[in-house]
Amino acid sequence: MNRQIYFDNNATTKCDEEVLNAMLPFLKESYGNPSSIYEFGKDIKEKVVWARKQVAKLLNANENEIIFTSCASESNITAIMSAVKNNPTKRHIITTSIEHASILETMQYLEDNGYKITYLSVDSKGKIDLEELKKSINQDTLLIAIMMANNEIGNIYPIKEIGEIAKKNHIIFHCDAVQAIGKIPIDVKELQVDTLSMSGHKIHTPKGIGILYIRNNLPYIPLIFGHQENNRRGGTENVPYIIGIGKASEIILEDNYEINKKLKYLRDKLEDNVKQMISDVVIYGDLNNRLPNTSSMAFKGVKSEELLLVLESFGICVSTGSACNSMIAEPSHVLKACHADLENYSPIRISLGKYNTEEEVDIFVKNLITAVNMLRRKK
Ligand code: PLP
Repeated sequence: MNRQIYFDNNATTKCDEEVLNAMLPFLKESYGNPSSIYEFGKDIKEKVVWARKQVAKLLNANENEIIFTSCASESNITAIMSAVKNNPTKRHIITTSIEHASILETMQYLEDNGYKITYLSVDSKGKIDLEELKKSINQDTLLIAIMMANNEIGNIYPIKEIGEIAKKNHIIFHCDAVQAIGKIPIDVKELQVDTLSMSGHKIHTPKGIGILYIRNNLPYIPLIFGHQENNRRGGTENVPYIIGIGKASEIILEDNYEINKKLKYLRDKLEDNVKQMISDVVIYGDLNNRLPNTSSMAFKGVKSEELLLVLESFGICVSTGSACNSMIAEPSHVLKACHADLENYSPIRISLGKYNTEEEVDIFVKNLITAVNMLRRKK
């Protein structure tokens, strides 16, 4: 196969060698169960404590507020269902129309079971209106669930302000921070979130590990019952992956978010060159308040599925939207919510990661120009 250019880092990321090396001993010789009381398990338990500490530091949380899960989808669903089960007299939840499927599908399930869900609208740039949020709150509202950054357009949402509104109204606030982790410094205390989710495979661990942050003293009911994680999530600890997410968190802390300067430089260069070289381009999202690595762009008259296939034939991986929807030719629910002209401007999502280079951006732009011209000529 030709050289691959991987520009789909919001879907998943390459495992970091350092993360892999930290994990390997726990896949080989140190395979003990951390709940065992003999020495063999004890060392492993200490390493799990270390990993929890790294994640807690990354979020400015206390160690006992961190639960290891199998993925962020599990974290999201656990947080929502726990809030629901702890507030049996209330039946109203506020979320947005641009959340990840793990949130939206859970909301649909709750709606089917008698809950009232308010989906906050977004404007053409994907921004929400805090006045609409305030007006949506009523006596019956038990939960607000809003993401920190959108996976498709990269918008960053005003989590601190939402946290304040939730607190003032005594409503639980859950935040899906999957796409923000590693790109925006996060301080759960300052943000006043009650629960927050994060995923390892977006920050260079293998797939299969997530985090659920739960604020101390928040009443909590597990989704998976059992004795592990202080009785908050059953299942023998996935030690290698727990070490992996600990290491990935440590790497972010050591880098102190410096990588994002490079990502922003590359993303901005890519967009500037594309706008200069290709006519009729639209870039979606809030261009003044986006993740540094994400670009959602569309070219008049060019269908994104066709463009994706041509780019793939050049060895370039991008997506048409969120990973779980990328095999479905349905228009993105995020851009539909923005009332985007998807008939004429169907989007591709470019999401850069720490292993991408300037040379790759230059090759990408050249190939994109060829692909767009080819598809426009074909019409
Ligand atoms: N939330 C957001 C915003 C995401 O982008 C994703 C993954 O694409 C998830 C949640 C789900 O993460 P996981 O794959 O760990 O379940």
